[in-house]
Amino acid sequence: MADLTAFQSWITTCATAIADRADDLTELDRAIGDADHGSNMKRGMSACAQLAEQEDFSSIDAYLKKVGMTLVSTVGGASGPLYGTFFLRLAGPLAASEQVGAHEFGQALRAGVEGIVARGKAELGDKTMYDALSPALDAFEEAAGAGSDLADALQAAARAAAEGRDATEPMVARKGRASYLGERSVGHQDPGATSATLLVEAAAQTLT
Ligand code: ADP
Ligand code: MG
Repeated sequence: MADLTAFQSWITTCATAIADRADDLTELDRAIGDADHGSNMKRGMSACAQLAEQEDFSSIDAYLKKVGMTLVSTVGGASGPLYGTFFLRLAGPLAASEQVGAHEFGQALRAGVEGIVARGKAELGDKTMYDALSPALDAFEEAAGAGSDLADALQAAARAAAEGRDATEPMVARKGRASYLGERSVGHQDPGATSATLLVEAAAQTLT
């Protein structure tokens, strides 16, 4: 079960991971985009990591909504509204919860990922963050459905996200800036799938 403190530690852990990998994310985006994904995400996640110091949050869902709004207003690019929507939707199913277990988090994760699809219209194989998040969601639901607790289901989700991220390399981009490159996007790992994997891996480290 994860409480508000665990969710706050998810965000700060993710912010550190993104800051550590910001140059890598930017290099990936230089190859098939405009070389701003690392700086975009670092700016947004570091603003999110400071939220808990600036404000006392009364609930997990209020906190996650603020994270989502902060990402929308600070990240910019395509990924800001997409990650912002993810956290805003993630909050919905957790509205009444002080402690979140595997079943509830699965509902929240599904809402969050569906929010990204509703907003960005990505399909599997388009070479986006969805190619990491969709297998992560599937793996989470399968593990939780088989009786895994939140921590174990998130471990499964993190492994699946990493596999999905790696699988973006040979894909032709069909969404966002990278799609302008067409076939020339082949051979490069998608930056958004890379940051999305860091997000899921941070969840596996903290939401226990
Ligand atoms: P921008 O492309 O505006 O510079 P970023 O560089 O911050 O924005 O983010 C690029 C990432 O956003 C891509 O690697 C991809 O994963 C993701 N992305 C772009 N468009 C979409 C979309 N329609 N749906 C899902 N993800 C998308
Ligand atoms: Mg970019």
